[in-house]
Amino acid sequence: MLPGCVDLHTHLASTPTFAPLDDFEHGTRAAIAGGVTTVASMVYQEDGSLRRGIDRGRRDAERSLADFAFHIVVTDPSEAARAEIPAVVRDGHAGLKVFMVTPRFGERRDDYRLLLRAAARAGTVVAIHAEDYEIVAARTAELHAARRTAVRHFPASRPVEAEVKAVREAIELAEDTGAAIYLVHLSSRAALDALREGKRRGVHVFGETRPLYLYLTRAQFDRPDAALWVGQPPLREPDDVDAVWAALGDGTLDTVGTDHFPHTRAAKLAPGQSFDRIPPGVSNLETLLPMLHSEGVRKGRLTLARMVEVLATAPARIAGMYPRKGVLAVGSDADVVIFDPNARRTIRATELHSACDYDPYEGWDVTGWPLIVIARGEVVFERGELRAEAGRGKFVARGVASPA
Ligand SMILES: [Zn+2]
Repeated sequence: MLPGCVDLHTHLASTPTFAPLDDFEHGTRAAIAGGVTTVASMVYQEDGSLRRGIDRGRRDAERSLADFAFHIVVTDPSEAARAEIPAVVRDGHAGLKVFMVTPRFGERRDDYRLLLRAAARAGTVVAIHAEDYEIVAARTAELHAARRTAVRHFPASRPVEAEVKAVREAIELAEDTGAAIYLVHLSSRAALDALREGKRRGVHVFGETRPLYLYLTRAQFDRPDAALWVGQPPLREPDDVDAVWAALGDGTLDTVGTDHFPHTRAAKLAPGQSFDRIPPGVSNLETLLPMLHSEGVRKGRLTLARMVEVLATAPARIAGMYPRKGVLAVGSDADVVIFDPNARRTIRATELHSACDYDPYEGWDVTGWPLIVIARGEVVFERGELRAEAGRGKFVARGVASPA
């Protein structure tokens, strides 16, 4: 029996110009079937307003099967947006997200610094996508100039140094402003070394990795269908994979978040798409727990207790939902996974609940799968069958991140 998993990194909400393939309904069908009972989705600041982005997320989440919360992606760190922070935090939205990988971050560094100061004052954690825009843009331009636009050049367009530079800058920003930051989808040994160093200095920084960086390497990009595995940052070297496992075990990394954001095979493999035009992201919600159990616990790379910590307890603490979520205890929500550690299953997209028509781990043999999932005391998944209705999920107010 395990606590329901808490996935702090999903993209289930729409924007004015985009509707994800896995919306709240499809995405959380996959989540529940995989033992993930709480999800946090990105919502985007809309027409300059944080509140409007949250309102859209709330409307989309009316179809959610899982309990949910948000990170608000701040694309315009204006004075007006910063002024909204205390009120949205009071309403339970204690999570912002910043993309260092857009040109806007470089152009508005001072405003982003003020945003992090405001976040620190309001007690909200700031999730950060740490890849350096200038490096990625320069490499991408060089590859285009050399007519190297096939997907096999994708990793070269987003080198480890881009991740490391941004991670260092983010940690300095956290140190300077006092904000708590959550570095999402870390992928490389050097970035993890920078994170470890920041933690050693006492900076309030949390680290997340994502399933892709635990199971796959850059070799995937030699395949003709390599585009299916395009995500940002790219898959790395075997030595980086080893470093991610080690960092997960030794506490340098705090969580595994899925970054669940699938696109159809056709969208990923559209002919003539240069590497920087392939929509990034893959499906992962349903396989998050079984894969980490199978590849981590069963293979002796992670203890069962540590797996529960990184999939449930730590994300709940970071999201300010602990002890309501992330633990089996009197007074907590009864979010429970009855997990069969010996169940054997081969991953087939056709048997999974995502709307996506492929899975990044298609054909992998996995040992251990949820047998029964209970969410707030209700059986929502039992022996392969979903028992939950769209709309049963409830908003979970986030508080201040609590230390481990
Ligand atoms: Zn993401």
